[in-house]
Amino acid sequence: MKILKFGGTSVGQPSRMHQVANIITSQKGPKIIVLSALSGTTNSLVKIGEDLSAGKPDDASREIETLYHHYVKFQNELVQKENSKAKAQYVINENFSFIRSQLKIEFSENNTKELLARGELISTKLFSIYLEETGYKNILLPALEFMAIDDNDEPDMEFIQAGLKNLLKIHEGNELFITQGYICLNSEQKIDNLKRGGSDYTASLIGAAINADLVQIWTDIDGMHNNDPRVVEKTKPVAELSFDEASELAYFGAKILHPSSILPAKQYNVPVQLKNTMDPEAYGTMISSKEKSKEIKAIAAKNGITAIKIKSTRMLLAYGFLSNVFKIFEKYKTPIDMITTSEVAVSLTIDDDSKLSEIVGDLKALGAVTVDKDQSIICMVGNDVVEEKGIIEKIFDALREIPIRMISYGGSKYNVSVLIESQNKKDALIALNKGLFDL
Ligand code: ASP
Ligand code: MG
Repeated sequence: MKILKFGGTSVGQPSRMHQVANIITSQKGPKIIVLSALSGTTNSLVKIGEDLSAGKPDDASREIETLYHHYVKFQNELVQKENSKAKAQYVINENFSFIRSQLKIEFSENNTKELLARGELISTKLFSIYLEETGYKNILLPALEFMAIDDNDEPDMEFIQAGLKNLLKIHEGNELFITQGYICLNSEQKIDNLKRGGSDYTASLIGAAINADLVQIWTDIDGMHNNDPRVVEKTKPVAELSFDEASELAYFGAKILHPSSILPAKQYNVPVQLKNTMDPEAYGTMISSKEKSKEIKAIAAKNGITAIKIKSTRMLLAYGFLSNVFKIFEKYKTPIDMITTSEVAVSLTIDDDSKLSEIVGDLKALGAVTVDKDQSIICMVGNDVVEEKGIIEKIFDALREIPIRMISYGGSKYNVSVLIESQNKKDALIALNKGLFDL
């Protein structure tokens, strides 16, 4: 079994959906198709939820009607036959009567989640109707019958495995299944979701749960690139990545893949291939357990980083100092990304600064605290880069004009990171592209 996931832009226009159908039907063997909502829909539903929570029903209503008309137009171009049009319009009416009904009730957080689920519920049904019209029998697997998270918002793997097994057994002999990305049930059996961009996660969880041969994530770029294509002009796709390399890149800013989605694939050893809907022939990126060449494969950057330095002579030759520092971060549930120490000071970085003033307040009891905002982590990833001679030299040669605030080297064998001011990020990425990839 293969899992093929298509994101919002891949299904965002009728012509794109037609192309998705071509891609799917040209691949042999049984498969489960995971779809996102049409591009723009989830944002629009978020907006509707916000308007309703803020007591602005008129604004919500206007947004709802705009979205409704978008769907009516969409279905008219998507399908041709009268009975398909009637079915598609029925799906739209059904979902929009639910959405409109939210205008009349007291609105809560649970309602928001039910609202958000509509995007994927509509896109999958419309796609199923289109496939049927073109003669491809397909089965809709309702994600709300098998995708679930537990009290800690972590996937409930046993439930997912059992649910999928059961559904696939009921429909034994079928080869083409469609399901919703992103949406799930929570431990209270209420509709929930896997957070924004979560359809990738759905696909890898399904792949892991049924031990699929391959998970393909179809987006609008030809794989993970060696550098950020939004910042650097010349970048190229990386053909092979290991799970560790890919998760590092996804976490440190490569927007192409939801960072959590690597973990289940790695645990169950299911390869994940990133593919481009606009250029299906392009190889893309294959992420698997294979670890190959020792070189820097790619660079990713993460903005909005805050660096905190705690300086204290009490740290000199003392034990327990770092542990006291860490306790404060633990108390405010704030993860630390990078860390460096000297004999009398420790510098570390955080991404989530929502508790910064409380943290700094507590840290002052341990020493002098300095905070630097607007920093970026530049993360360079590749297997064994830390053991490979000459790589560090190349990195620092490329960055010779850029002031570096922190360096992290040796923490893992496949990552070297530096912290710089965000205003220097573009120059740093361009310099590294030249120095490391000759691009
Ligand atoms: N539709 C959801 C979102 O826009 C999930 C996804 O596209 O992956 O975040
Ligand atoms: Mg996405």
